Amino acid sequence: MIWYKKLEINLKNLRKNFRALKKFLPKNTKILPVIKNDAYGHGLLEVAKTLSEEGIFGFGLSEPEEASLLRKNGFSQPILFLSGFEKDWLPEMYNLKVIPVVTNFDTFEWLKEFVKKINIKWEFHLKLDTGMHRFGLNFSELDQFIEKLKSFPLLKLTGLMTHLSCAENPEHELTQIQLKKLKEALEKLKNNKIIPKYIHFANSGGIIFLPEKGNLVRPGISLYGGYPNFKARELIKLYPVMTLKSRIVEIKRLKKGEYAGYGPNFKAKKATNLGLVPVGYGDGYLRSLSNKGFAWCKGKRVAIVGNISMKALYLDITELENPQIGDEVILLGGKNEEVPADELASLAGTISYELFCNLGKSIPREYINV
Ligand SMILES: *Cc1c(COP(=O)(O)O)cnc(C)c1O
Repeated sequence: MIWYKKLEINLKNLRKNFRALKKFLPKNTKILPVIKNDAYGHGLLEVAKTLSEEGIFGFGLSEPEEASLLRKNGFSQPILFLSGFEKDWLPEMYNLKVIPVVTNFDTFEWLKEFVKKINIKWEFHLKLDTGMHRFGLNFSELDQFIEKLKSFPLLKLTGLMTHLSCAENPEHELTQIQLKKLKEALEKLKNNKIIPKYIHFANSGGIIFLPEKGNLVRPGISLYGGYPNFKARELIKLYPVMTLKSRIVEIKRLKKGEYAGYGPNFKAKKATNLGLVPVGYGDGYLRSLSNKGFAWCKGKRVAIVGNISMKALYLDITELENPQIGDEVILLGGKNEEVPADELASLAGTISYELFCNLGKSIPREYINV
């Protein structure tokens, strides 16, 4: 038994978000939902199953563990490891029919060695670093790469990709530079008669904000109802997939001047009613929301006050009418997005992604479909 806390995953909203994104895409664009890290905390298999029913190209992952889980559960779509791979993953990747993403000369050499050893042909995608300086072959090394590739016919380049540092900001100089470099790279490949079937660079931000999206896209956060930034709210309506609910389990009536919580970090400026909710940082809730976050109770937004502890947090329920032990509290999401993930995350100095990942691995999930 655990304290009452419910992490609801609404698969119908996942579907709605997928369909909303599709409206931004030309008809034949292929979609590769990114479901790495347990589908951003929402549950790998449930998310994969729901999205499979919507018609997708394949899945974006980062590690073999999750690819193996997908294959064991009968998913046969293409899988891409978006950030490259380790050398000793290759046999497993081959067995799992993962499409490798080459990110530098080392990964390319490992791949060559592997296919030569067991004498097979394998397709791969090339990830080019066009300016984010994370994973990817340096743009300046592309010519040399093309020469190496041309002399090794067992490997076929079927995709060219890059990752944008701020796709949600199309006017940013870096976005322009990155897209220009990608175009140049494509030209270079074409001049060498290498025509990648798939060109991909758009994450959620790219799909919503960029005029051109490539012929394959890689949405993550937006599928889960998270907006790439606040401006995106004006362009697309998304529905929260993750909702965290709990209830008030203790009510404290403080007089003016009394304290609450560790620190103590809260002192009542006037007579104040506090509702204690059994969710804390041990449950993946962010402690940095102490004295900053908010929740929803009895039709009103209520502030989080005091320091959040491992298994509990305080809500200021002074303004609520007749609060009772047992009153339900929405801590994230909600049917009408009462507690928007992006707003909460920004109060904590983070992004919705982190909140989802933390909660998803800490609290048992319940799936709903309404
Ligand atoms: C995680 C990831 C994505 C998804 O990005 P969102 O911002 O969640 O849409 C896309 N591409 C790559 C390479 C990624 O690592």
